[in-house]
Amino acid sequence: SIEVSGLNKSFGDFVALDDVNVSLPTGQLTALLGPSGGGKSTLLRIIAGLEKADSGAVTIEGVDATHLPAQKRNVGFVFQHYAVFKHMTVAKNVAFGLEIRKRPKAEVTRRVDELLELVHLSQFGHRLPSQLSGGQRQRMALARALAVEPTVLLLDEPFGALDAKVRRELRDWLRRLHDEVHVTTVFVTHDQEEALEVADEIVVINEGRVEQVGTPDQLYDEPANDFVMSFLGEVT
Ligand code: ATP
Ligand code: MG
Repeated sequence: SIEVSGLNKSFGDFVALDDVNVSLPTGQLTALLGPSGGGKSTLLRIIAGLEKADSGAVTIEGVDATHLPAQKRNVGFVFQHYAVFKHMTVAKNVAFGLEIRKRPKAEVTRRVDELLELVHLSQFGHRLPSQLSGGQRQRMALARALAVEPTVLLLDEPFGALDAKVRRELRDWLRRLHDEVHVTTVFVTHDQEEALEVADEIVVINEGRVEQVGTPDQLYDEPANDFVMSFLGEVT
């Protein structure tokens, strides 16, 4: 599980996270949902170890990760503008994390084949990222994040820049992938419909505070307050 307790984060005078407490069970697909500027990315970056909290603790699968650097947290992440290596083939991009960890060549090859199959890119391993569609590139980024077998997968608006149709395809695909791989996954979205359709559980964040945590049904049937009600009410 991912346990976040008493997390506070300010940028100067601005309070970005205000006493955030959440507990995300192992294997769950969780959405962090909320309006722009609410603190979603900040929370995800703190869980990933890319940003330091002012106070509070993060525990990942029983290990106190609060003071661990990102490389030691065994997390995979995909951010919206995550750099891909443009000069490397798709297969090389996916292999990268394994190669810097000096895994044996045969193992790297086998694992890359498996991953490309998992994200339905088996035919595209030899291409450059620039020769992929946006959705295919995002799938490549996911394969890369999964390569090192992370215990948690953190996705910050992974489909944000894509058109509605591709977004929907990837959303369904993420759900299926999760059903296959069962890695504890947290993804950020400001799209209510996306969260309601994909997530096992949703954490609603607004102005640095957790407004409600619940399953899509719970949020829909029993919104905790006016904010949650009106925010979910914006579903089109
Ligand atoms: P969006 O949906 O637009 O991505 P978000 O919920 O991810 O929003 P955050 O990126 O977590 O929001 O930002 C929360 C608040 O903290 C925002 O008001 C933002 O301007 C502020 N903030 C984030 N990072 C910094 C920073 N490095 N320096 C100063 N302020 C920051
Ligand atoms: Mg963000």
